[in-house]
Amino acid sequence: MLNYQNILLTVDFSGHDLFVAQKAQALAEQFHATLHILHVLDNIPMPDTPYGTVIPLSEDSAYELLENEKNKLVQISDQLNIAPSRRWLIWGEPQQEITQLAIQQQIDLIIVGSHDRHGLAVLMGSTAKDVLYHAECDVLAVHIKKPG
Ligand code: AMP
Repeated sequence: MLNYQNILLTVDFSGHDLFVAQKAQALAEQFHATLHILHVLDNIPMPDTPYGTVIPLSEDSAYELLENEKNKLVQISDQLNIAPSRRWLIWGEPQQEITQLAIQQQIDLIIVGSHDRHGLAVLMGSTAKDVLYHAECDVLAVHIKKPG
């Protein structure tokens, strides 16, 4: 199969997501592919929650931070017309959950943003690079330019 059928857009809510998302949407339209969206919760302490837990977007939660992340995912998914069943909010480590969900959902293209890195950030590595290294499908890194 030469065309992509299932595309996974990954978003970190860094402020550059819409630019990356628009590319994902254009590609999905071009290939008549199904677009999924994923945000991995890696910044909220959730005791007793094992990594890999899918957080239902439709249920109320006690954590204000969690509600905030849910709202952001709903908002961007609505903008892109991504159906609720293809919106993923998962607790865990980004590279691990991205590549795992890609296998589970038979994704054939993962889309990540790629920032310019300098200084310490180079040493700390990047999610984009880790996904590229570990994914079992194609990965598109959308270059995010610095403003100015
Ligand atoms: P980074 O390499 O951490 O600067 O992130 C680059 C890209 O990896 C982002 O633009 C997203 O596409 C993806 N990414 C990073 N963190 C997450 C996350 N927590 N959930 C989903 N995608 C992420």
